[in-house]
Amino acid sequence: GLGVTAAAMVFSLAACGSDEPAAGGGGAEGKKIALLLPESKTARYEALDRPLFEAALKASCPSCEVIYSNADQDAAKQQQQAEAALTQGANVLVLDPVDGKAAASVVNSAKGQNVPVVAYDRFIEGANYYVSFQNEAVGKLQAQTLVDILKNAGKTSGNIAMINGSPTDPNAAQFKAGAHSVLDGSGFKIAAEFDTPDWSPDKAQSWMEGQLSAIKSGLVGVYAANDGTAGGAIAALKGGGVNPLPPVTGQDAELAGIQRIVSGDQAMTIYKAVKPQAEDAVKAALALANGDKPEAKTEVQGVPSTLLDPIAVTKANIADTVVKDGIYKVSDICTAN
Ligand code: BGC
Repeated sequence: GLGVTAAAMVFSLAACGSDEPAAGGGGAEGKKIALLLPESKTARYEALDRPLFEAALKASCPSCEVIYSNADQDAAKQQQQAEAALTQGANVLVLDPVDGKAAASVVNSAKGQNVPVVAYDRFIEGANYYVSFQNEAVGKLQAQTLVDILKNAGKTSGNIAMINGSPTDPNAAQFKAGAHSVLDGSGFKIAAEFDTPDWSPDKAQSWMEGQLSAIKSGLVGVYAANDGTAGGAIAALKGGGVNPLPPVTGQDAELAGIQRIVSGDQAMTIYKAVKPQAEDAVKAALALANGDKPEAKTEVQGVPSTLLDPIAVTKANIADTVVKDGIYKVSDICTAN
């Protein structure tokens, strides 16, 4: 605790550079934590997850080191990055998998070397710990906000296009299930539905372009699973001359998404506070590096887990959410005007 003596301090600092485990096994000093993120087209990873994780680790353990890599949506590349991190002596892997199923083999090889794995944001079977959000609630909030907006506009029927996330991302299936639980039986018709490979905004855009002639006339809304795919959908709608734009959903509270909400091009997004997520992952990784069990409030398929709450954001609460939390300043958001 706070009573740590100068001598103990000097001792633990001296142990930092060595390959020996800290004396007594109690300290996380000098540990290497690998952070393996899945892609960089979605802004959150490089803009928020990575710097917030690095800052949280530095704050809790100044002598610890992050081994960072980004797989650019390539599961094979991520497997190599995980193996490279193990070779470099990573003590814990914090893994946000491109392909949740394929990542189970990464967990196996890590465990074979006594290296625990934290499943970060996306679930992995057999992981030692999992931190994410209530992901089915994300899909429900997106769809419910869309339905509420339509009903407030006096609409009770019409076509909805659904643009889901990547089939290899376990979260995508949860967002989709949550959204269906609201949309199915809502009176609106899911006229066309797409699972976007790699969550690629470009692929979402070209799919939407291809659907327009068939569904354009009765189109009242677009469910897009995140802000990247929402951006693709909106570009397709504008390019196809759809005017006025129907309400389009999103997720991540990306700066571009928030700006589209302000300008009226996008109806809503989901704010998932990445800071507590990154801090929780660091806390769990350090506990595991020390051979301790991380604190967990719940369990997912036998994996101790923490699931944070998502928040729906429309024009009405931008100030009370992402601005209040210091994610963006008003001047960041308003540059385009
Ligand atoms: C994350 C989302 C993100 C998506 C695309 C999901 O697993 O939860 O925040 O938009 O992946 O990277």
